[in-house]
Amino acid sequence: MLASVLRCEHHGDVSTAGRSPNSDHDSWVRRDAAVVWHGFTQMAAYADNAPVIVDRAEGRELVDVDGRRYLDAISSLWVTTLGHRVPELDRALHDQIDRVAHSTLLGNGNRVVIEFAEALAARVPVDDPHVLFASDGAAAVEQALKIAFQYWANLGVVGRTRYLALGQAYHGDTVGSLSVGAGGFGTDLFDQLRFPVARTPGYDDPRWADRAVAALAEHAAELAAVVLEPLVQGAAGMLVADPADVGRVVEAARELDVLVICDEVATGFGRTGTLFASEQCGVRPDLLCLGKGLTAGYLAQSATVADGRVYEAFLGPDLSERTFYHGHSYSGNALAAAVGLRHLELLEEWDVLANVRARAEQLRGLLAERIAGMVPVGAVRQQGLMAGVELTPPREDLRWGRRVCAAAVARGVLLRPLGDVVVLMPPLTSTDAEIDRIVSVLGEAIAEGATVA
Ligand SMILES: *Cc1c(COP(=O)(O)O)cnc(C)c1O
Repeated sequence: MLASVLRCEHHGDVSTAGRSPNSDHDSWVRRDAAVVWHGFTQMAAYADNAPVIVDRAEGRELVDVDGRRYLDAISSLWVTTLGHRVPELDRALHDQIDRVAHSTLLGNGNRVVIEFAEALAARVPVDDPHVLFASDGAAAVEQALKIAFQYWANLGVVGRTRYLALGQAYHGDTVGSLSVGAGGFGTDLFDQLRFPVARTPGYDDPRWADRAVAALAEHAAELAAVVLEPLVQGAAGMLVADPADVGRVVEAARELDVLVICDEVATGFGRTGTLFASEQCGVRPDLLCLGKGLTAGYLAQSATVADGRVYEAFLGPDLSERTFYHGHSYSGNALAAAVGLRHLELLEEWDVLANVRARAEQLRGLLAERIAGMVPVGAVRQQGLMAGVELTPPREDLRWGRRVCAAAVARGVLLRPLGDVVVLMPPLTSTDAEIDRIVSVLGEAIAEGATVA
């Protein structure tokens, strides 16, 4: 299933139906396709798949170059939390730009970054937290992998150089994060570049935790760390784990002295109904990877949070080899920090988690009532405001995922599937009416797009 994921989810089949002949859209698509290489996108087909060309946004809606509006039901690929153009966040950005946009964190500090790190440290489920910023989620994972590796070297422990990772896992697209990822996504080509890992099944296997615990016991002496996405394997199509199972695996790792890396790039910042999914699992990782919602979807910034035990293993004489010689140019960007800091405040001021839980319950009810029973639907999976509706096409070549999403886009709701799983990731501030609209449009889109003819 994973092989076709992510790459083939432009809004196929529905063309620019209904656009006036002199619309700006076609000319923007031509200019776009001439110079922009879109990720996870077959560029030979890009222009024919009716891409939405965004001009601006208002609240939770994107507005395209022709003035058409689309409810952003995928939160701009899972990054947007409170919506677009949030006045409070915009103001934080303006205020910071009047001070400084960026200054390096390599060997020097920045006031707003200190404030942001303090605010994060007070909220992350990590003991004695220390925050190393990066830019993308993949880079946060990459940092965590290297930190775990060097941790054992710094302690003088020989042989703890491997990782335990799960089937179905997705941790990003750099070579290191790809190595702990489970493959699929057309990445098998890079198998020769991947470093080998110990791998046990993903959350689609009801015995995944037993298998992981057994593998931990078997390989402990050679494991630097276990890496997992607590509670939800998002890119796998929203596979949901029992929180107690996650807790059990982490507990086993603890007992065997294997470091625990939680990748909360997708689940962090309220998505699953708590600020971090680790909290629901009763888990406190040694290394926590954050990205996507870290800046509310405003700026490219990520972070790896290390606990005190890991951090202290890197302390030593100046310029000594215990130092972590790793750092990204835009690590701790001041604009990102200013927005991230205000975002953390707003999550509390607006009691966003209460809205996530209420809207998640509403979504669960509506999906059960209107979607789960539809013939093309095989399964509905959800945790908080992350949901996946798995379609079951009778043949592989029907591209139901992308046809259904295209039908939804034509109705003004922006969706994007993972293969034949339609992903619903509405912003955390979505209203009752917006959730209702997303599910109604999804029902119509399934009826239109999930057909054999
Ligand atoms: C999206 C994602 C990543 C990669 O983040 P990028 O910012 O796209 O590099 C890593 N891990 C998980 C769980 C993700 O969902």
